Amino acid sequence: MAEIVVMGAGLSGTLMAYELVPQLMAGDRITLVSQGPTYHFVPSNPWVAIGWRQREAIEIDLEKVMRRKDIRLMTQGVRKVHPGENRIELADDSSISYDYLVIATGPDLAFDEIPGLGPRGHTQSICHIDHAVEAKAAFDRFVERPGPIIVGAVQGASCFGPAYEFLFILETELRRRRIRDRVPMTFVTSEPYIGHLGLDGVGDTKGLLESEMRERHIKWITNARVKTVEAGKMDVEELDEAGAVRKSHELPFAFSMMLPAFRGVPAVRGIEGLTNPRGFILVDKYQRNPAFPNVFAIGVCIAIPPVGPTPVPVGVPKTGFMIESMVTASALNIGALLKGREAKAQPTWNAVCLADFGDSGVAFLAQPQIPPRNVNWSSKGEWVHYAKVAFEKYFLHKIRKGESEPFYERLLLEKLDIQKIKEVKEPA
Ligand SMILES: Cc1cc2nc3c(=O)[nH]c(=O)nc-3n(C[C@H](O)[C@H](O)[C@H](O)COP(=O)(O)OP(=O)(O)OC[C@H]3O[C@@H](n4cnc5c(N)ncnc54)[C@H](O)[C@@H]3O)c2cc1C
Repeated sequence: MAEIVVMGAGLSGTLMAYELVPQLMAGDRITLVSQGPTYHFVPSNPWVAIGWRQREAIEIDLEKVMRRKDIRLMTQGVRKVHPGENRIELADDSSISYDYLVIATGPDLAFDEIPGLGPRGHTQSICHIDHAVEAKAAFDRFVERPGPIIVGAVQGASCFGPAYEFLFILETELRRRRIRDRVPMTFVTSEPYIGHLGLDGVGDTKGLLESEMRERHIKWITNARVKTVEAGKMDVEELDEAGAVRKSHELPFAFSMMLPAFRGVPAVRGIEGLTNPRGFILVDKYQRNPAFPNVFAIGVCIAIPPVGPTPVPVGVPKTGFMIESMVTASALNIGALLKGREAKAQPTWNAVCLADFGDSGVAFLAQPQIPPRNVNWSSKGEWVHYAKVAFEKYFLHKIRKGESEPFYERLLLEKLDIQKIKEVKEPA
């Protein structure tokens, strides 16, 4: 009788719990430890921040669905992992001993690394639903008194797709409100070039995204290091190829959203053998930690080295398709171990991303993620918006129903069937 604990009930953790159910032997138990009773769909946060979605539409009560699936849900959160003792300590001082642990805690948002960055400072965030709701209130105030906008991703960031997405949906919204002519827009990014995305580009993402920015009159600064943010002012250093300061910019803004750098959450940070110096979990090709082989890790919390050196540090993104493959491999491996077999399943770690622009969008597919690649494809069109809506709809359905059918695999198998994707209705 094994106790399997999944830590974190975000995208990877909830799917992990569902995929583990068919792997159990009689008497085995799954415990999912979350921070609070609800799940929210992070990829829809950009829409929440400009009012295209309401919080309720992307939030799910986990208690009901976990009860139905016979998964024990504990909502108090984990204070510390003690892998040497096969034990997690919860925030209410209680403990759970485990036979297998799956860490799925996503990122800790490192706003504190730059003075004035983030919702407690002077820039907005879309990384958490609470931040997106706050950003919407700030956006409402902004439209009363429009001014310059800065959107982007700071040094050490690894999640660039949502920064582009937010930039373009914001621009679309400003045009719809007929105030775009009063809003100079600048994209500030640590990437060495537009469309790098932490992946050294995919297909023609450089050309597609630069051209979109030119068409929409959006300026950009690459190789950017944000020094400080004050109310209405961002100090940015632009570096050259050798990493020396090429130009300093003092940028005024009336509204700004900047993606922060990520690091591991406090419950796992600083544990010898478990994490790298940023607190990301070290895993082998089976999603297993080499020092503590009964610990698996999936999603944004795992350590992946950057694709190559850049003047300003940038990380590798971990997106939905990769995450689905990490979940499936980990579930199969834990299932095999429970049955006394070897863990052999390996994730594909391919990257697929859909960046919605509201009235258009860019999609890309990188197989494998690190170049040179067998598939290196990008494309632009209105269909991407509908594909993104389909992505949201399928994932929310899966999590509400406790299903684990992979969305991306299906999308790829259907060869991005645009007609099918367009039939998906947007939620009211
Ligand atoms: C704004 C944004 C938009 C994105 N859009 C897309 C997209 O369109 N397509 C795509 O493929 N990918 C997208 N991604 C990337 C990725 O798919 C998401 O970040 C996804 O949510 C990552 O899943 P995760 O499970 O690793 O982390 P999360 O979904 O963040 O879940 C982590 C969970 O762990 C919990 N947790 C943390 N610490 C503890 C603790 N101590 N105890 C218990 N629980 C804990 C958190 O509360 C959270 O619920 C986006 C990312 C962001 C930030």
